[in-house]
Amino acid sequence: MPKMKSMEDLFYGLLQDVYYAEKQLLKALPKMAKNATSPELEKAFLQHRDETETQVERLEKAFEMIGKTAKGKKCEAIIGLVEEGEEVIKEAEDDDVRDAGIVGAAQAVEHYEIARYGTMIAWARQLGMNDAASLLEQTLEQEYNADRLLTELAEGRLNREAA
Ligand code: FE
Ligand code: FE
Ligand code: ZN
Ligand code: FE
Repeated sequence: MPKMKSMEDLFYGLLQDVYYAEKQLLKALPKMAKNATSPELEKAFLQHRDETETQVERLEKAFEMIGKTAKGKKCEAIIGLVEEGEEVIKEAEDDDVRDAGIVGAAQAVEHYEIARYGTMIAWARQLGMNDAASLLEQTLEQEYNADRLLTELAEGRLNREAA
């Protein structure tokens, strides 16, 4: 067990968790795009996949800022959330129902990320690492936007067609 002696250790641990999570999402987002029926939804997932590449790079910069090599630490939370998305894809028998289910699963992922980045940014500030905080804020903004876009797509069309 690695020891968590300080805020630095805590920050480093969360960085590894989120690094692992973003890497999983690089693989999951194209699958969600492929299984989406709505072209707007497909596009949203592919666009967020590209953003996620940038997010991974930002995390690598944050590792550099604390003088550590970038490495992931298994995040059971993201594995579970991605699995729920896979389940809904397998189980939905109707295209519109599947799209609505995928959006719901994807929003759970975005909310997870929003929670984690919010905490990382607060800890970075507490550690006096304002550069790292500003960097991660750019990612947090992308996660908020992804969540908002999914809400718009769901409210605008997807849920109504599924009903
Ligand atoms: Fe992300
Ligand atoms: Fe996690
Ligand atoms: Zn994400
Ligand atoms: Fe995201």
